[in-house]
Amino acid sequence: MQIKRVGVIGLGNMGLPMATTLARKGFEVVGFDLSDSRNKLASDQGIQPISLNELLRSVDVVVSSLPYARDVEAVLNTPDALLERRDRRVIVVDTSTADPTTSRRLQKLLDAAGHGHLDAPVSGGPAGAADGQLTMMIGGTDQDFADARPVIEAMAGKVVHVGPSGAGNVAKLINNMLVAAHMVTTGEAIRLGEAAGVSAEAVLQVVNAATGRSGISEIHFPKWIMSNRFDSGFATGLMRKDVGLAADLANEVGIELPLSKEVARLWLEDRTVVADAEDFTRMSGYQPKVDKAA
Ligand code: NAD
Repeated sequence: MQIKRVGVIGLGNMGLPMATTLARKGFEVVGFDLSDSRNKLASDQGIQPISLNELLRSVDVVVSSLPYARDVEAVLNTPDALLERRDRRVIVVDTSTADPTTSRRLQKLLDAAGHGHLDAPVSGGPAGAADGQLTMMIGGTDQDFADARPVIEAMAGKVVHVGPSGAGNVAKLINNMLVAAHMVTTGEAIRLGEAAGVSAEAVLQVVNAATGRSGISEIHFPKWIMSNRFDSGFATGLMRKDVGLAADLANEVGIELPLSKEVARLWLEDRTVVADAEDFTRMSGYQPKVDKAA
């Protein structure tokens, strides 16, 4: 399948750096966002913003990066656009983190209209999107995966075709359930260390050279928590969505996960301690001491 023109829908923290990466790798990239300020920023970075209908009617591949499954569903159902298009087969690469049931429904809808659909959620944050080094977990048919591969490989450092439609989002929700747990447990471990007289820095040094480490202890703590920056580019509200979807998935398949349930309670119960708009690294509950002399 010949891919020249790619349309990125949702030019937020993830979508915009994905768009600039695709443009850098030689695709003709156009974009659409509901927000004027994001469209302006995209235009400043060389990504031409166009109307949603025009995008859906003109591109070879759609890459969506939207907050919720319902946003993706609304966009793909835009009247007089993709579902009515007959000039070519278009593949939708939906990188949003969403529920697997919606992914499967959208795959069927697009298939019936002669198009392809992959759930292709990502890990690696805005920096990974900007470097073309995301980890992508794909759900969908072999054919759609093969057809969209040049676009996927331009955005990713690592790609796993997990299984049929929905499997990518199952894998992503499992990953983020672990991320949510590690954020809480690593924060607790550091607070225990300090209460017992060992500094946070020393605890992290040991854990990251030993078996208690995770992506959270190796990357998030040094880069965004210990530095007091709290600007990883992932909002607590979006992570709460993922934690809720993972809990829903466990209920749906009828499995009891006591520790994960408690982690979900900590993330979801009280939204006032860490507001949805704040960076998700705030949820570790650890605040480094600021050196007043510095
Ligand atoms: P974001 O809020 O920064 O960006 C979302 C963008 O979508 C916004 O610019 C918003 O204006 C736009 N938007 C919302 N509804 C729209 C619609 N109907 N049509 C067009 N544009 C619309 O969010 P983000 O952090 O970029 O996350 C996007 C997706 O990627 C989410 O599903 C999130 O869970 C997932 N994700 C984020 C990260 C991260 O580190 N930020 C990492 C992995 C996965």
